[in-house]
Amino acid sequence: MKVLVAAPLHERAIEVLKNAGFEVIYEEYPDEEKLVELVGDVDAIIVRSKPRVTRKVIEAAPKLKVIGRAGVGLDNIDLEAAKERGIKVVNSPGASSRSVAELAVALMFAVARKIAFADRKMREGIWAKKQCMGMELEGKTLGIVGFGRIGYSIAKIARALGMNVLLYDPYPNEERAREVGGKFVPLEELLKESDVVTLHVPLVEQTYHLINEERLRLMKPTAILINAARGAVVDTSALVKALQGGWIAGAGLDVFEEEPLPKDHPLTKLDNVVLTPHIGASTVEAQMRAGVQVAEQIVEILKG
Ligand code: NAD
Repeated sequence: MKVLVAAPLHERAIEVLKNAGFEVIYEEYPDEEKLVELVGDVDAIIVRSKPRVTRKVIEAAPKLKVIGRAGVGLDNIDLEAAKERGIKVVNSPGASSRSVAELAVALMFAVARKIAFADRKMREGIWAKKQCMGMELEGKTLGIVGFGRIGYSIAKIARALGMNVLLYDPYPNEERAREVGGKFVPLEELLKESDVVTLHVPLVEQTYHLINEERLRLMKPTAILINAARGAVVDTSALVKALQGGWIAGAGLDVFEEEPLPKDHPLTKLDNVVLTPHIGASTVEAQMRAGVQVAEQIVEILKG
């Protein structure tokens, strides 16, 4: 059996494949032409968010039985073409939940204590102590929009921080909510009551611009918005207006409607925003878990 690893993969994941007796070939992010050349005799391919596994690639791989995506989204794989050939597609949905949750909490603290702003001023030689009055998180209300894997992970951390937890999810899991001391409320109530609102929904038709001008206006002027889900869950122009107009106090953003974020984007001009370049899952631990989970599933499938 031969496995093509087409993206950087944690060494433990490679070990899992080799220990199963598979031949592993490695090519970092090959383009479509190169992939077509490489897949002629492979039984499995492993990718991350790149490269794209197109219909053309799948058609060039007569022995292919499984495609592994070390991570969550499957948008770089032609699922229709895979299905037609009976090729299985596997991924690692929970592997990065804790990492994304920790980043969201880091963004909350960074905005609440103006850490990025303070750091920028220090480097300019400015001791901006007076402009850095912050807010404690203990005793405040955290509104979690989307109570799935990441939302649940954040709720556990929030509880340890002494925050009250409000939840909104169209498919409420009451047992898990009880476990973290959270309470399901309608979205409008969550937005009105929360001191920090954090988004953990998938990007689907119903969540596109879920946080729009009308909903931003419901939030407290002292509130902070965190988005480490997908950029388009928030209407960016409305958010810029909200931050400029003081409808909310600040935002921490890991994801954007346009990525990479253009250099002169209005968000980059605002002091009350902390920006990170979609690094929610970028930890050694998340990458290792994602690779190993996918490698183990591939071993299981290829060994029948
Ligand atoms: P999940 O599927 O476990 O949870 C998503 C939750 O959202 C579910 O409970 C679902 O019922 C709920 N939901 C669906 N539609 C909703 C709506 N209209 N309003 C409120 N809730 C709704 O997913 P997860 O693993 O927790 O991940 C959440 C999202 O985080 C992913 O879809 C992805 O977009 C994003 N993500 C970002 C990074 C990053 O690097 N920043 C990394 C991984 C995932």
